[in-house]
Amino acid sequence: MSMGSQGSLRFDALILGGGIAGLEAALNLADQDFSVAIVEKDASIGGKMIRLSKVFPTLDCSSCITTPKMAAAAHHPNITLFTYCELGSLQRRDNDLVAAIQQKPRYVDVDLCIGCRQCEYQCPVLAPDAEQGGFAARKAIYIPFSNAIPPKALIDPEDCILCGRCAKICPTQAVNYFQAPEDFTLTAATAVIATGFEVTPLADKTQYGQGKIPNVITALQMERLLAPHGPYNRVLRPYDGMEPDNIAFIQCAGSRDQSLGVPYCSRVCCMYAIKQAMLLSGSLPMADITIYYLDIRAFGKGYEQFFQNSQAMGVSFVKGKVAYLDPGDNGAVLVRYESQDAEGGVQVAEHDLVVLSLGLLPGWTPQGRCALSTGTDHFIQTVKPKLAPTLTDLDGVFVAGAAAGPKDIVDSIVEAGAAAMEASRYLAAR
Ligand SMILES: Cc1cc2nc3c(=O)[nH]c(=O)nc-3n(C[C@H](O)[C@H](O)[C@H](O)COP(=O)(O)OP(=O)(O)OC[C@H]3O[C@@H](n4cnc5c(N)ncnc54)[C@H](O)[C@@H]3O)c2cc1C
Ligand code: SF4
Ligand code: SF4
Repeated sequence: MSMGSQGSLRFDALILGGGIAGLEAALNLADQDFSVAIVEKDASIGGKMIRLSKVFPTLDCSSCITTPKMAAAAHHPNITLFTYCELGSLQRRDNDLVAAIQQKPRYVDVDLCIGCRQCEYQCPVLAPDAEQGGFAARKAIYIPFSNAIPPKALIDPEDCILCGRCAKICPTQAVNYFQAPEDFTLTAATAVIATGFEVTPLADKTQYGQGKIPNVITALQMERLLAPHGPYNRVLRPYDGMEPDNIAFIQCAGSRDQSLGVPYCSRVCCMYAIKQAMLLSGSLPMADITIYYLDIRAFGKGYEQFFQNSQAMGVSFVKGKVAYLDPGDNGAVLVRYESQDAEGGVQVAEHDLVVLSLGLLPGWTPQGRCALSTGTDHFIQTVKPKLAPTLTDLDGVFVAGAAAGPKDIVDSIVEAGAAAMEASRYLAAR
């Protein structure tokens, strides 16, 4: 079935979420000759991983290793992609799982669009590009990012001024300002929930300026500054374009914090901060880099060595709880912390750029849409967490990756393989 076509809507398996966990589960099932639908809410598959710079602990280029998986899923004869689709409900009806889905309007016909970008070049409107952490601009009509799959344009109706230039230039008449949402139903025997995570909102953290202090950025924004196709092609601080000399990371900036309702450890923040610090010391060799932490949790294979390597490279680790961030002079940020090192007491340090290691929250919540249960942490509940960690309380529905709780890429891949195995056993037993 061609990409974007919605011909036969009955599949063996539905995969909700096209991040690395969803792609891995889909490929595992499709390789066993099951027909698979991937339903993704964004305009491209790839999840968070396609937006990262390099990945711990190997420092592989993230988009270089994600793109082949995305392409393999898009070209697999047994996989159909449904991107830019919202799940209304997922319910068990007798032997089937029935998903009510809405195709959101792209205002571009995906079957006609050839991804030539002529429309982008002509569009006069510039808007902040969320894919680049808001540090660069995109047009009102745009292809989400350079290796997006499908490589098709869409219009953001909030930004569009309906000037008509894109429709006029488009060589295939793909632009359609009158496209409306389309509802359809998709039936599958089994499903894997792989809806991943979102980061804790900056606005929740009043002590850290709620996103209003210049040069306090999130770790996902730092991923973009470090990425090969980032907004500036080098690391500059957003406030004034200065090359930062003195960068700080604040750990547990949204995790292990009862007041935010996030009492758990987000598991990946220590490692991604260490990774970013190492990448920064490569791109800015003269910069001082400090990580303020409570504990360093380097639990995975090769992770402790990775942590030790960063210390050998000169990254400073300061044990202390950061109480407040305040704006300093000339775009500096003042970090007020309670030291648990030998110096002790309340200390204040000045940095050019501060990166917040925000916590991980569920990417999707089933309440009101599906009878799946969630745990006290609001991630999807698994009913046999030790012996069958991908089993949910809805018959034939499995969970993989960060949808079940904060998780790194290695664990997400492993879990996706396990969920696909459970799903294929379920299909074989029918
Ligand atoms: C700053 C940062 C740096 C990181 N660096 C590393 C690293 O170097 N190494 C490492 O191992 N891990 C790293 N991680 C963790 C890594 O991002 C996760 O392990 C990985 O993304 C989990 O994959 P996933 O597919 O489960 O979730 P995601 O990547 O979140 O993908 C979920 C997908 O589901 C889609 N979705 C959500 N809800 C719906 C819905 N209702 N319907 C349809 N689709 C939906 C989303 O749009 C998304 O495409 C980092 C995390 C952060 C925040
Ligand atoms: S909408 Fe038209 S102009 Fe824009 S990328 Fe697609 S084919 Fe090219
Ligand atoms: S109609 Fe909208 S999307 Fe198209 S060129 Fe004009 S502003 Fe851009």
